[in-house]
Amino acid sequence: MTSFSLRQTYSQLPDHFYAPADLTPVAASQLVKLNVPLARTLGLDPVWLSGPDGVAMLSGSHMPPGVQPLALAYAGHQFGHFVPQLGDGRALLLGDVTDASGAIREVQLKGSGRTAYSRRGDGRAALGPVLREYVVSEAMAAMGVPTTRALAAVLTGEQVMRETPLPGAVIARVASSHIRVGTFQFFAARQDINGLRTLADFAIARHYPDASQAPAPYLAFLEHVIAAQADLVAQWMLKGFIHGVMNTDNMAISGETIDYGPCAFMEQYDPTTVFSFIDERGRYAYGNQPSMALWNLTRLAEALLPLLADNQEQAIPVAQQALSTFEGRFQATYLEGLRAKLGLKTVQPEDAGLFRSLLETMQAEQTDFTQIFRALSTSEAIAGEDVPETLATFGSWLTLWRQRLAQEPEEPVSARVAAMKQVNPAFIPRNHLVEAMIKAAVEQNDFSQFETVLAVCTHPYDDQPGKEAYARPAQASERVRHTFCGT
Ligand code: AMP
Ligand code: MG
Repeated sequence: MTSFSLRQTYSQLPDHFYAPADLTPVAASQLVKLNVPLARTLGLDPVWLSGPDGVAMLSGSHMPPGVQPLALAYAGHQFGHFVPQLGDGRALLLGDVTDASGAIREVQLKGSGRTAYSRRGDGRAALGPVLREYVVSEAMAAMGVPTTRALAAVLTGEQVMRETPLPGAVIARVASSHIRVGTFQFFAARQDINGLRTLADFAIARHYPDASQAPAPYLAFLEHVIAAQADLVAQWMLKGFIHGVMNTDNMAISGETIDYGPCAFMEQYDPTTVFSFIDERGRYAYGNQPSMALWNLTRLAEALLPLLADNQEQAIPVAQQALSTFEGRFQATYLEGLRAKLGLKTVQPEDAGLFRSLLETMQAEQTDFTQIFRALSTSEAIAGEDVPETLATFGSWLTLWRQRLAQEPEEPVSARVAAMKQVNPAFIPRNHLVEAMIKAAVEQNDFSQFETVLAVCTHPYDDQPGKEAYARPAQASERVRHTFCGT
């Protein structure tokens, strides 16, 4: 048997950055799914990982020699309210590796038991949220959206008490780091300037090494995070993704999507769409995501003030100047993405109006966001002959779009269709599919739907003959109104 090793780079940081974790062995761990291709890119042996020692590690029961799990300290604004002490209450950082591309990737368990930061929680996760995170994060990765990845899901053989007893499970996920906006807030709230600087230096080295060469490295770091999150949220908007809990502890400094909870994909286009049961006021509604990202980045900038200048008076305008770039960056990425979704390569002054009228028509007609863009990605829609039924009510807009396409450099229709299909997914993890696969797994111990939804959604841009049912929106009877974080 091959040996298994992970570094623990985060433990080189000062003691108060984390708490070493005690393990909580589970009754009978059982592997549900191992992401073999991901394991290979991480240099982790899939055979070892799926064997008894690997599954014992993936359930948080027993670690191989040299693996020292840590729970990380962080704070955060939850729905606008500051909590100075959160931390990994049900997660354990196992360590990190250098992947095939030379990048550092951390492996973390979620649902593995209580830690020093659990507060009143049980440290556990239920199977449903584990499967949702697995499928949605892998679908996001396949769509090219920056995200944590799912490495494995295991059943613990134990029940967790939620509203009803549910099968317990653990997800192993992979991230370029687990540093959040809330990690900076943790040190800022304690006026621990040394801790803040140490964390910033670590984050710069990990994520934005060129910032260390800039005239003002911490400002350059802030600017990088602002750009990364503006680009990330633009990608969410272009895919119809709703994170659901954009608290500052759930926003990664790397610009990866992290902490999949009551996340969901919008079906009918409507900026006020909210699924999360706990988000009563729609703080994190689809259309609020850009402004909430900026709100979170403003909290990051506040935390970084002591590093931006000698005193607050000087630091505030520096931070404000950096934050003022968010809107332009977001708009540029979002409009570039919309342009690609509509097969446009050049920029014309009327484009913003064209995009707006498409979205307004979608909203008025209550049509499916994903399906419309995919229907546009066809030679019929482009040529205006045998237009797909889905586009029946878009007649006048289609005429405007075709006039606009005529201003583009000459290109074969097939090339235009191919390019559009590369950005307009046919398959997303639709909420009714996710709910059905969770129900089958939880109630019948049947993982076949999980496997199918995962397989379909990890090839989002391919036409998959025979899988048309997975591309259609929910019928009225299937429609999911609420999602739950399951904590
Ligand atoms: P979340 O909203 O899932 O990002 O979690 C917010 C905070 O609550 C984090 O500090 C989590 O570690 C903690 N937490 C969530 N669920 C649990 C649980 N079941 N047990 C312990 N801590 C939890
Ligand atoms: Mg979280």
